[in-house]
Amino acid sequence: MSHKQASFYQSVQTNFEKAAKVSGLPKGLLAQISACNAVYQMRFPIKSGNGYEVIEAYRVQHSHHRLPTKGGIRFSHLVNQEEVMALASLMTYKCAIVNVPFGGAKGGVKVSTRKYSEEQLEKITRRYTVELVRKNFIGPGTDVPAPDYGTGSREMAWILDTYVQLRNGELDAAACVTGKPTGQNGIQGRTEATGRGVYYATRELLNDEEEMKALKMKPGTEGKTIVIQGLGNVGTYTGLICTEEGGMKVIAVSEIEGTIYNPDGIDIDKLVKYRKKKKTIIGFPGTKKMAKREDWVGINCDVLIPAALESQINKANAKKVKAKIIVEAANGPVTAEAEEILLKKGVVILPDMYANAGGVTVSYFEWLKNLSHIRFGRMEKRFDQRAYTQLVNKVEDLTGKKISKKEKTLLTKGADEIDLVRSGLEETMIQAYHEIRNIKRRKRNVKEWRTAAFLVALEKVASDYMSLGIFP
Ligand code: GLU
Repeated sequence: MSHKQASFYQSVQTNFEKAAKVSGLPKGLLAQISACNAVYQMRFPIKSGNGYEVIEAYRVQHSHHRLPTKGGIRFSHLVNQEEVMALASLMTYKCAIVNVPFGGAKGGVKVSTRKYSEEQLEKITRRYTVELVRKNFIGPGTDVPAPDYGTGSREMAWILDTYVQLRNGELDAAACVTGKPTGQNGIQGRTEATGRGVYYATRELLNDEEEMKALKMKPGTEGKTIVIQGLGNVGTYTGLICTEEGGMKVIAVSEIEGTIYNPDGIDIDKLVKYRKKKKTIIGFPGTKKMAKREDWVGINCDVLIPAALESQINKANAKKVKAKIIVEAANGPVTAEAEEILLKKGVVILPDMYANAGGVTVSYFEWLKNLSHIRFGRMEKRFDQRAYTQLVNKVEDLTGKKISKKEKTLLTKGADEIDLVRSGLEETMIQAYHEIRNIKRRKRNVKEWRTAAFLVALEKVASDYMSLGIFP
């Protein structure tokens, strides 16, 4: 057996093939679905020190079966064409699974964000956007970027500003990018969205009595132990929401500087503040440092949540996994080779294309908000509030009993934007869970969640292609 690990793109292709074989779809159609439709590779200079440096960057549009195409932009020194292709492919399947009507895309800029000043990062982001505009690789109806590893709302604001300067007067310009700051055409709840979606996905599985019976686990989220790799946006919100809303316990966190462990639970909010000040998670009160950073993989817990980069659980360390469940908060954290080993051990893996789809789901809500030019809840909030108040007042009159002012406020509240976004996200994740689960139940030769999720996606993408008349 070779020791060389398969690439991330190969891994995505292997998983695709596995599902394609049992899909019953025609070969030509499958080949069209899996291919990356357009790959834009660019090089541009930025001033660095006394000279110039050439920056390597990409935007890949994987599938045009629906428009616009959609997916984040990654800033990392590991970016390469194949990685962006793999990520763009995953976006297509992800959108289909959560019924977000977009094709898949992804961008990547090969830079280590730590090595550049804010000013340089702004220049890189703006120049990258100019390149996208020039080639028609960005726009509300063509291709809509968003944050990913190494980028956030700040970069999205730069992208929008650059776009608007070049496309002056375009009515829907704000919808050219999502994940913007809330004060600049963004939406409440986008920052927490991926982590919140990971929580909903985990909760659905943990509350599934049949699944839990098969794993010999007690149903429910309360008291379940989790280990998180990566304390970026996704890992942080996953940890916060799993503990606050699910009553789960984060017993270990892994980051670049090492892995910390506390069987009694780690307060994520305090840990994030600690890391901001000390620039490390090591030494956080109550925790002990594990011998090696990689030790997070083998910790005994209920749910292992890789929330950093791809290929973190691979054929070299998969045997060490003791958790019964892995929830892929990152894109591609478990390689196809590792999955084979894990499935034999009976580990259940909730795949990335479902588990981390919360981000793009709320991006979809943001895009809709931008196109409609109105905030969610603006029309109905006060109307609902008044109607609920009248109802409660009537019940009080009829029963002769009064409820407290606090209870009344809670019962009569009209929905704000954040309430609607969370409700829409929760509904989306529950619906998708059942769609995947139904396929898993229906097809006797499909045992794992990833193949079932792929099949859900393939069916929808294939039917879109057919309705376009390309494949009769
Ligand atoms: N980068 C995120 C992902 O991998 C979000 C993409 C988006 O919102 O378009 O799903």
